[in-house]
Amino acid sequence: MAFIDLRSDTVTLPTPAMRRAMAEAEVGDDVMREDPAVNELERAAAELLGKGAALFVPSGTFANQCAILTHTRSGDEVVLAENCHVVQHEAGAAALISRVQLRPASPGSPHLLPQDLAERIREPGDIHYPRTGLVCVEQATSSGTAIPLKTLTEIHELASGRGIPVHMDGARFFNACEALNASPEEMARRADSIMFCLSKGLCAPVGSLLVGNQEFIERARVNRKRMGGGLRQAGILAAAGLVGLRDVRPRLKEDHAKAKLLADLLREIPGIEVAREPEINMVFARIKMRISAEELVRRLKKSSVRIFPPEGGVFRFVTHQQIDEAGVRKAAAALAEALRA
Ligand SMILES: *Cc1c(COP(=O)(O)O)cnc(C)c1O
Repeated sequence: MAFIDLRSDTVTLPTPAMRRAMAEAEVGDDVMREDPAVNELERAAAELLGKGAALFVPSGTFANQCAILTHTRSGDEVVLAENCHVVQHEAGAAALISRVQLRPASPGSPHLLPQDLAERIREPGDIHYPRTGLVCVEQATSSGTAIPLKTLTEIHELASGRGIPVHMDGARFFNACEALNASPEEMARRADSIMFCLSKGLCAPVGSLLVGNQEFIERARVNRKRMGGGLRQAGILAAAGLVGLRDVRPRLKEDHAKAKLLADLLREIPGIEVAREPEINMVFARIKMRISAEELVRRLKKSSVRIFPPEGGVFRFVTHQQIDEAGVRKAAAALAEALRA
């Protein structure tokens, strides 16, 4: 029996239309820029976000790290929220690859706050200080929220005014657009480079796009090669990404509705405290229970529901295209049952 898998939207499988597009993709050597499907995907991404160019890369982590490497010089400081993917979930890659110092800020907040950034931008001229080389924002955030456009504008203006670029980790960029009812172009205008993932809610098997102006993307292309991300007939993968952008992107709102439904159902279960109303496809909750978290995970797995153990005492449940409304209801019922037993 198939699992109802609430662990992440990375578990989504390619759609039948994607598999057909992959089988039929016209491909070539992308390192030589001769892969028609990759070229088409890069053009489509740049156009959608209103930027000059885009680059297909193997993963979201790769895109973030390639962006950091391209924007900074070694020894620079990067200002970003403490609770973001680059700080928490990229295994220290920025220190290893770009040899930069991360300056985590706004620890209690899901995102970087403009006043915290203002206090952390270094004055030039003192030899003790690192150079502030980059600001990173995460949109949507790892906490499942979307940063308001006004806040993004403030951050971008603050950084730009000091000649500092802003990179947007938009692993769930289109979820954030949906949550804020903003166009991709409106959102992208508030950063100098943006990465978005094809392999999360968009259901493609592999890949992310790094988007920015032409000069930046040319330099990022060299760094992609250096990092071992120059792929050959990558059009097989890009073809799936194109289907994701065309067919799945308009359906992300369904995932958000399912998250809201799940939150409503969970609120009715004794012991479950939903942290906040979902803004994207994620529900966060604390659970008071007699059994251990491991035991809860085990019981749910026996009922064909998969969840991750909590991080910092908080469970995260993620909805996506492979879970329908009935699946959401079944998962909530299984959770209630597991906590009762
Ligand atoms: C998933 C994720 C990434 C990294 O993407 P991978 O493709 O898993 O490397 C980066 N940032 C955020 C916010 C993410 O959720």
